[in-house]
Amino acid sequence: FYLNKTFSDLSSDLLVNKVRANMDEARFRHCQGVSITARKLAKLNNYDEDKAALAGFIHDYAKQVANDEFIRVIKDPKNNFNQDLLNWNRAIWHGIVGTYFIKRDLSITDSEILTAIKRHTTGDVEMTTLDKIVFVADYIEPGRSFSGVDEAREVTFSNLDAGVGYELAHTLQFLANNRQKIYPKTLAAYNVWGIKKE
Ligand code: GDP
Ligand code: FE
Ligand code: FE
Ligand code: FE
Repeated sequence: FYLNKTFSDLSSDLLVNKVRANMDEARFRHCQGVSITARKLAKLNNYDEDKAALAGFIHDYAKQVANDEFIRVIKDPKNNFNQDLLNWNRAIWHGIVGTYFIKRDLSITDSEILTAIKRHTTGDVEMTTLDKIVFVADYIEPGRSFSGVDEAREVTFSNLDAGVGYELAHTLQFLANNRQKIYPKTLAAYNVWGIKKE
């Protein structure tokens, strides 16, 4: 893994070690898989490969932060988080609130990277190329093995937007099947990227 100096003051080794120390081995391997997939998708879609690889690598940095820590950060007025986040859970928090820990611990200030991480779980109505790359790389990295993942890979590697739509449609289906609450941004994103285009 090569860290382009423009994105953090930390050395590449230190950044990798900090990410490794913040999660278990399986989650770290997932981050490596997302990084590799994000790099491939960046190349295919004419995006900065190093930047995509870094964003993919750190996207789940806060995945295993404790609930009370997330709640403390959301409630701290200095951080300006929407207090509605308290009605959700760590599935939603680790990306949106994760940006706080990524700024604090990894010295990342690039707004495109931080936005892509913020949006990586739910998607959004507006998505940049990097947002899309991290969103779908998370879903199709080589370690993923749910039924339909091969189709998701084919769709995504043939067209990035179609990959975003595929993931949103299938995530919504999965959440409804399990009678889980849909985060409004997930639904709004589906209505933009998930529906059939005429
Ligand atoms: P991961 O961090 O690599 O496991 O993947 P994600 O960050 O994409 O997703 C984390 C979890 O959030 C998954 O279990 C998703 O199904 C779940 N998730 C995504 N969108 C929503 C939503 O709108 N509502 C709820 N309740 N969960 C969601
Ligand atoms: Fe995640
Ligand atoms: Fe995802
Ligand atoms: Fe992930």
